[in-house]
Amino acid sequence: MSHDLDTCVVAAAIVDDFQRPRRLLAARRTHPAELSGWWELPGGKVDGAESPVDALHRELKEELGIGAELGAEISGPADGLWPLRPGLVMRVWWAMIIEGSPEPLQDHDRICWLGPSEWLNVPWLPSDTAVIAHIIDARRSG
Ligand code: C5P
Repeated sequence: MSHDLDTCVVAAAIVDDFQRPRRLLAARRTHPAELSGWWELPGGKVDGAESPVDALHRELKEELGIGAELGAEISGPADGLWPLRPGLVMRVWWAMIIEGSPEPLQDHDRICWLGPSEWLNVPWLPSDTAVIAHIIDARRSG
């Protein structure tokens, strides 16, 4: 199925090291009500003409006050994308913080660093669970 016309959400798997990631940053949403209390990889919707990568840098600055270096994209099961619901797909990149220290400035009320064996230990949004289970599996088999 083509996803060309779908709205794109971008998100970051923020880790402490690209080669040997041990800690992963999780952020707890405050809204909308149905997503409140669930944890996510920080990010959000791409606006209009903005590129997905520009959108992700903007979201990380707005939501957490950080500058980040992006690593490889984490390819999903639908032509490399992660389907969220009809008309909405997600793209996810590895990221490392290069500026600032993360704080929940907007959209979140808590952030936390999950240690090596804790990556699935928060109630992630369902699509984020799929991403994280995938990266854990990939690391085990790679
Ligand atoms: O952050 P924002 O509300 O713009 O995200 C749009 C939708 O994308 C949310 O309603 C949520 O369902 C989904 N999302 C997600 N995982 C993320 C970020 C957003 O499933 N890490």
